[in-house]
Amino acid sequence: MAYLGNPAGTLRVLDKYKFNFRKNFGQNFLIDDHILTKIVDAAEITKDDLVLEIGPGIGTMTQYLCERARQVIAVEIDTSLIPILEDTLSEYDNVSVINKDILKVDIRALADEYNEGRPIKVVANLPYYITTPIVMGLFESHVPLKSITVMVQKEVAERMQTGPGSKDYGALSLAVAYYSEAKVIATVSPNCFIPKPNVESSVIHMTVHEKSPVEVVDEAFLFQIIRASFNQRRKTLVNGLSGANLPGIDKDRIREALGKMGKSETVRGETFTLEEFAELANYLKK
Ligand code: SAM
Repeated sequence: MAYLGNPAGTLRVLDKYKFNFRKNFGQNFLIDDHILTKIVDAAEITKDDLVLEIGPGIGTMTQYLCERARQVIAVEIDTSLIPILEDTLSEYDNVSVINKDILKVDIRALADEYNEGRPIKVVANLPYYITTPIVMGLFESHVPLKSITVMVQKEVAERMQTGPGSKDYGALSLAVAYYSEAKVIATVSPNCFIPKPNVESSVIHMTVHEKSPVEVVDEAFLFQIIRASFNQRRKTLVNGLSGANLPGIDKDRIREALGKMGKSETVRGETFTLEEFAELANYLKK
C-alpha cells in the first residue's frame, strides 16, 4: 500500500496518476505524519465512531482515519481523485467515498444510514475557500455531531475562537461559541503541504454542545440579529439592526430592549457577548 503521510509517498501517487491540482478546489495535500497523527489524536476516534471526512484528496488522512474508526465516509468533489482514492484506500473495507459537493450532501441521511442517527465526528483538512459555509452548515443543520476537528487558515481559527473586543470577533466566533467548545490544537506551517498554501494554518477541535450555553426562544432569529449587527460593524447596534429590515424590529423596539438590559443606546454589537445577544434576541422576540 502507498503510505502517503510524507512527501515521497505523495509525490509518487501524484506522478503515477499525472494529477493536476485544481486551485479552485482549494487543494493542498498534507505530507506531514506528525500533523496527521496530531489531528486524528485530537479527534479521539475509536472503533465505535463514524467519521465524515470532507475532501479526502488522495486519501492521506483517510488512511489514518480508517485505521482508527469503525467506518469512514469521505466526500470528495473532484472526480479525477476518485480512481486515485480507489487505489490508495484499496486495503480498507471500512470506507465509502462519495463523489459530491459537501454542500449538497444530506449529512443527516448519512448519519441515519451509517450510524443509526447517532452523533458522528467530522475530521477534515478543509478546502479554505468554503470553510465558513461548511462549518456553519454543519452547525445550523443540527446534524447529530459529536465533534468537528478541522484544518483551517490560521486567521479563520482566530476568528472562530475569539471574544468581544478583538477585531477578529464576529458572527463566526459567536456561532462557534453557541454550538461548541473550541480549542486550537496546532499551528501548521505551509511546508506541511503540497502545494504550499500562502498562509499559515491551524487545527481547531470543536466539541459540539449537547445543550447550548444560552437559552433562546428562536435560534434562527438570534443569528439574524448577530449577522445584522456585524454587517454594519461601524454603526451603533440601534442603527445597524434597524437597517437590516427584520420584521417588526425598529429603532424604538431596539432602544427599549437595550434600556431593559441596562445598555447605552450608542452601544456597538461588537462589544456584545453571546449571553447579551441571546438576551437581546429574547427581548426583541417578545
Ligand atoms: N484531505 C486531503 C489532505 O489533507 O491531503 C486534501 C485536503 S485539500 C485542503 C481539500 C480537499 O477538498 C481537496 O481534495 C478538494 O478537491 C476537496 N474539496 C474542495 N471543495 C469541495 C467540496 N465542495 N466538497 C467536497 N470536497 C471538496
